[in-house]
Amino acid sequence: HFKQAPMADQFDLECRDVVKKFDAFTAVDSISLTIPKGSFFSILGPSGCGKTTLLRMLAGFQAPTSGDILIKGSSVLGVPPNRRPVNMVFQHLALFPMMNVSENVAYGLKRRGADRATIEKKVIDTLARVGLPDSGPKQISQLSGGQKQRIAIARCLVLEPAVLLLDEPLGALDLKLREHMKVELKQLQHEIGTTFVYITHDQSEALVMSDQVAVMNAGRFEQVGAPQDLYYNPHTAFVAGFVGESNRWKGTVGMTHDDHIVINLPTGGAVLASRKTHPTLAEGQPVDVFVRPEAIAIDGQGKTDNAIAAKVDNVLFNGAASSVQVRDKATGHEMTVALPQTGVFANLKSGDLVNLTWGAEQTRCFVAAQ
Ligand code: ATP
Repeated sequence: HFKQAPMADQFDLECRDVVKKFDAFTAVDSISLTIPKGSFFSILGPSGCGKTTLLRMLAGFQAPTSGDILIKGSSVLGVPPNRRPVNMVFQHLALFPMMNVSENVAYGLKRRGADRATIEKKVIDTLARVGLPDSGPKQISQLSGGQKQRIAIARCLVLEPAVLLLDEPLGALDLKLREHMKVELKQLQHEIGTTFVYITHDQSEALVMSDQVAVMNAGRFEQVGAPQDLYYNPHTAFVAGFVGESNRWKGTVGMTHDDHIVINLPTGGAVLASRKTHPTLAEGQPVDVFVRPEAIAIDGQGKTDNAIAAKVDNVLFNGAASSVQVRDKATGHEMTVALPQTGVFANLKSGDLVNLTWGAEQTRCFVAAQ
């Protein structure tokens, strides 16, 4: 009996130790990843971290220096972009302004030499799938930003790719439309079931839309996980700082006790962390310390392992997501506290004195480079 590769085709896309060097500079540094069929996978990282380079290698516009890329279980090294079962949606969409919507969507099929009846049927089906069934005769200039977005996706989907690669496709839209399109894109992906690989530097886009997010930094993946994992259980200081908001300090591990650890701050004062969640921290280690704004209570009755007297600098009312900027009275350290929904702090104003408290288990520390 011959043995099949173990479930190779449960993944639409796989990278094995993919490296890309430009002369001496390593833009993508030994990336391995597997993307399950039908999932929404985002690659999230700051400008210059290597996201686009990685995506271009998946698309076939660039060849890896070493490593392998597999699509549906087979290596695609050496396969040109137009022969790979992937398509790419660019930030600037690259729709043809001289053609109407149907002609734009039909373009790839025509180039492949499909017959007229097939093209016509597929264009109609695809426009319906992206929710714009009647837009065929329209000119591109008659479409809204969000509609253009969907047509750009339709133009790729019509070719029935296994994987759709999206390069910051919301980048060019205004804020309100971006917010709307986040939800639309997620829903669209869910409905059509095509695997999406989405690159972005915007953490809220990645959190809202993705099944899995890879956080990328300096050519490497720092952590791959579901949005909730990354938010509640970051493995590195980079992930803790990049995903979601945090209050941050630099400190040094002081006394360690059975149940808690004292982190001394250079400005004086200290923060308590839980021993249980930081079993290996040792006295004298420099650490980056993170506490989420929503973990902190104002004049609250929760755990009081940490208590800071602070002065309110600003109250930023923004509906449900309101927050307060405060300043530690002893150290001058600026902090942000998320306001609870109850409205009890409706009268809070600049200059007020407040007590901030949080439990030691809400403090997250990472050993810092010396
Ligand atoms: P952005 O969000 O700004 O597009 P990115 O994460 O997509 O950033 P890349 O475009 O992949 O980053 O670039 C990663 C690094 O590789 C950068 O330092 C860039 O200058 C470098 N780089 C990219 N393409 C080339 C190239 N053709 N030649 C030399 N260096 C390159």
